Amino acid sequence: MSPAEPALFRRYPTLAERLPRVPLVSAPTPVERMSALEALVGARVPLYVKRDDLTAVPYGGNKPRKLEFLLGDARARGRRHLVTFGVVGSNHVRATAIYGSRNGFGVTAILVPQPPDPRLGRNFQAIRAEGARVIPVPSAAHAGAAAVVVAAWTLARTLRPPYIIPPGGSSAVGALGYVSAGLELADQVARGECPEPAAIYVAGGSNGTAAGLVLGLRLAGLGSRLVVVWVDDLLAVSPRAIAALANRAGRLLSRLGCPTPRVAPDDFTVLDGYLGRGFGWPTLAGERATVQLAEAHGLTLDPDFTSKTAAAFLDAAIGRAAPGGPLLYWHTYGGK
Ligand SMILES: *Cc1c(COP(=O)(O)O)cnc(C)c1O
Repeated sequence: MSPAEPALFRRYPTLAERLPRVPLVSAPTPVERMSALEALVGARVPLYVKRDDLTAVPYGGNKPRKLEFLLGDARARGRRHLVTFGVVGSNHVRATAIYGSRNGFGVTAILVPQPPDPRLGRNFQAIRAEGARVIPVPSAAHAGAAAVVVAAWTLARTLRPPYIIPPGGSSAVGALGYVSAGLELADQVARGECPEPAAIYVAGGSNGTAAGLVLGLRLAGLGSRLVVVWVDDLLAVSPRAIAALANRAGRLLSRLGCPTPRVAPDDFTVLDGYLGRGFGWPTLAGERATVQLAEAHGLTLDPDFTSKTAAAFLDAAIGRAAPGGPLLYWHTYGGK
């Protein structure tokens, strides 16, 4: 597969000229029935997975969908240097280091201390291997001040301000990647690749994925309920924050000539009860879901985001409270 035209541009052809993009994503990512998992857990409803682990090579997951539009915006503004933020082993910072540096940008990463998942050390090595400049700070409260210093320094040295990417890549521009992903799923439903899900389960961290999806599903007219599983207590996941970001992305589209509906905080569900001790701490339910999805379909999950999301999805699949219809798990895993 090679980077393909996003569903957003098929829906609004004028955007192809107005919305700058650096192609990264092989779309559409597959949507697959999980019959073996249904049998393994005794699901009451059909189960599907959206394979966003296959968005891009060498690092997939949800971050390349946002970075397509973020890198495009940075390039269109003439910026040559990216500044972004994350925990020491951040998936987002790793993806930004990879795709930023390979598309000609300098990358500075401002990093706050590591949550306990030891596998995040691999991300840190990858960030360094891509040549990103790393600035460790003791806490999120110091990150803003560090960014001001880096921005001033970059401006003085290169006569251009850097392009600042917020944590997780979740600006209005970044969220457009998931508006497109929502439209992409609707196209797949229309083609008969899967039925319209009753509910879609996705991890919530910096909100860009959830905000983009809820707007994309609305634009597509899909009736599926988006369930955002709360897995990240380092960031402010809330229905209001997600709706506000969705509406910022919507206003951006409206300004580009594509009117969008408003999103309200009760248009989707934020589910807690799956976080455990905190971001980066594994949970028993998450470990069990990881084993079950590996055994049934050979999928790899991470302890931070996807395992806890899959745990919530499986509870819904077998529970008495199962919505009366197919369920879809959105697999945002980026890679080892
Ligand atoms: C970043 C990330 C998420 C969370 O997405 P947000 O857009 O930040 O809410 C979910 N899953 C994985 C694997 C991630 O790396």
